[in-house]
Amino acid sequence: MKEYCAVFGVYGHKQATYLTYLGLFSLQHRGQESSGIAIYKDGKLEVYKGLGLVSQVFNKQILDYLQGEIAIGHNRYSTAGDKDLKNAQPIVFQDIAIVHNGNLRNYEELKNLCASLNISLETTTDSEVILKLYAYYKNKYKNIKKALIETFKHLKGAFSVIILDKNTMIVARDKWGFRPLVMGEKDGAYIFASETCALNVLDAKFIREVKEGEVIILNKDKIENFLYDKPQKRACIFELIYFARPDSFIFGRNVYDVRENMGRILARESYIDADVVVPIPDSGVISALGFSRESKIPFEWGLLRSHYMGRSFINPTQELRDLAVRLKLSPIKSVLNGKRVVLIDDSLVRGTTAKRIINMVRKAGAKEVHLRISSPPIKHPCFYGIDTPTYEELIASKLKTQEIAKLIGADSLAYLSIDGLLKACNANKDEFCLACFNGDYIV
Ligand code: SF4
Repeated sequence: MKEYCAVFGVYGHKQATYLTYLGLFSLQHRGQESSGIAIYKDGKLEVYKGLGLVSQVFNKQILDYLQGEIAIGHNRYSTAGDKDLKNAQPIVFQDIAIVHNGNLRNYEELKNLCASLNISLETTTDSEVILKLYAYYKNKYKNIKKALIETFKHLKGAFSVIILDKNTMIVARDKWGFRPLVMGEKDGAYIFASETCALNVLDAKFIREVKEGEVIILNKDKIENFLYDKPQKRACIFELIYFARPDSFIFGRNVYDVRENMGRILARESYIDADVVVPIPDSGVISALGFSRESKIPFEWGLLRSHYMGRSFINPTQELRDLAVRLKLSPIKSVLNGKRVVLIDDSLVRGTTAKRIINMVRKAGAKEVHLRISSPPIKHPCFYGIDTPTYEELIASKLKTQEIAKLIGADSLAYLSIDGLLKACNANKDEFCLACFNGDYIV
């Protein structure tokens, strides 16, 4: 499961470009394929974007050239559209730039709408459709607010967007609030970001989250906000399980606290007598702490993760792919040898990685290996901006829990229940999207 895209924006700061650069750095976990910044200065829109990490795309010369007081930025990992530079964001049309996190469910329908309005599309991204519909309706109505309402009412699915239209910045979140979007302040300037970790890094003050269905228009005269439609809260619960950084506050919750709760409730629901609780790093670490505290089984770092393997690592054969797992994760034999181990991870998707890790832990001398997952079984794909495999590839959509345990070589396997997950988030069932667990797609 991969998250796709981070958005960031600064309105009214002399260092807007550098703040955006730093913000994108702290949001790198949300997308690593491409990065870009757009600014508006001296009556002109300037954009720079490239393929790769933030550190690979930008250098001092580029950032110095891009200086301006209003800036938007984006990190992308494609969910909709191809992985080439033309799909990198910000996307620009008629001196308007957009950055978008999320995925629209009705892209085909929107493409037809564009065709019927004689709007031509140059990329294969749903983000371009939002931009071009907005430009079309703005030209038609000569009124930004009316253009935005007209645009957003056609969109079904997830969008947290920031639009830069000359001196005006527009920030909006879909009425379901699938993806997070927060608002902060620094030196009197407004900052918008996918997660609060980007505010923390700038020492900016958190003001609040952008509400479901809210649109904020900022220009030099005033700030205006309104709802484009009635909110129907369905935040993506996977943001709390895995995608968001643990030092972020999103959907009214501290991500760290929620993950610790998940581990505690998982321990209550599926306790097993064992000698050590070992996280699969980094994703399982906080839940493993919760599991250990609740079960009173000692927490140990039985697996060490290398942080130096980039995404470009090439695995030419299956045999080398197995070895590559060892490069990424290495067992600590003195912790595992002769022990009954509870391994903790945040999710189980295809089961292939878990199988390799369990094998590795056994080879390191573990007597028993029990796998505990701090989320429910993923049985359905996501259509709202998360790259999930197909039904065919999702192991929990094909096999029962005991069958999976056997296949991956675990002595036992248990997941957090949906009720346990909601309890860990202190939420009711209508507050979050749970579609990848229960198939209940609201859009
Ligand atoms: S289907 Fe799953 S991953 Fe997708 S938005 Fe809903 S909870 Fe998130």
